[in-house]
Amino acid sequence: GEPPEPLWRHTTSDYSPDSPNSARINATLLSLVRNEELNELIPSMKELEAIWNSKFNYPWTFFNDVPFTEEFKRRTQAVTKAQCNYHVIPKEHWDMPPWISKELYEESAKILEENKVQYSGKISYNKMCRWNSGMFYRHPALQHIQYYWRVEPKVKFFCDVDYDVFRYMQDHNKTYGWNINLFDAPESIPSLWPETIKFLAAHPEHLAKNNAMKWLVDNERRPDINMKAHGYSTCHFWTNFEIADMSFWRSQAYEDYFSHLDRAGGFFYERWGDAPVHAIALGLFEDASKIHWFKDIGYNHVPFYNCPNSPKCHGCKAGQFYAGESWLQREDCRPLWFKYVGMG
Ligand code: GDP
Ligand code: MN
Repeated sequence: GEPPEPLWRHTTSDYSPDSPNSARINATLLSLVRNEELNELIPSMKELEAIWNSKFNYPWTFFNDVPFTEEFKRRTQAVTKAQCNYHVIPKEHWDMPPWISKELYEESAKILEENKVQYSGKISYNKMCRWNSGMFYRHPALQHIQYYWRVEPKVKFFCDVDYDVFRYMQDHNKTYGWNINLFDAPESIPSLWPETIKFLAAHPEHLAKNNAMKWLVDNERRPDINMKAHGYSTCHFWTNFEIADMSFWRSQAYEDYFSHLDRAGGFFYERWGDAPVHAIALGLFEDASKIHWFKDIGYNHVPFYNCPNSPKCHGCKAGQFYAGESWLQREDCRPLWFKYVGMG
């Protein structure tokens, strides 16, 4: 028969022109960012406003562990007609929880450094990963909000998006939208999968019927990685892009899972990222049909790309997956997602 279409080739059915002038739904653009990153955030904001938000005017919600400067507030508000909100993260959401030992943290940081784990010993990075895993949706400012689109400084957007992506999520009963799907550094998460197995043994009731377990445990594509991660493929959605329904993070299943992981200590004694934590939870506790690839949103966070071949896209090369050394190509985990879960 016909050779298979490359993953990045878009078809008209990838675009859902649902009522663009419909009322906004309960959602916000969301960014955890430092004051010092203002100059890197502004171009990303401008691009997202240009390709999408200027048509819908969803509010922006900014979070920081220290207060935002007046300059930060002034310059971000100046690039959007939408409302901007600025919030400080409460200490009890950001700081190391009391059951974590500072000494053990220092010890483990040395080992991680020897294993060349990126950001090891940088405690703000551990705090950030924990906050993005299990804390952000508890902030009082988000209590009455359901969906969010996560945005980081320095990211790029390449394609016009003419429909309301939040309405798409709601109308199609989607929980989670991703853009880039990768393998991870197993040295940053050696005990994450073992802890997950322990959790599943204690809470078999949380496992979803139509789950994506096979994607999480594949050991054929990267057996070396799977072995170092003790049974986890390390496949995950790259969370610098996330369009998601916070009801999932607020569910009993995720609440139980996050507290188990938080108690286990790997956000500090290892360097668990919010991406593998989110991916494992989604892959186990959510129906895989509720997880959507936003193939049509051309996107870059260094060094990876999602670039469709649509006339709506400008500034990236159709099909491009990485910029830099060619070994980066093998970090793409999409083939496994489509092998086990399908194109949805
Ligand atoms: P990487 O993408 O994994 O290399 O990590 P980043 O440095 O991009 O951090 C991820 C996100 O968290 C970015 O939006 C950062 O601005 C934000 N972030 C990381 N650390 C901190 C921090 O200590 N304070 C604040 N306010 N934001 C942070
Ligand atoms: Mn980043």
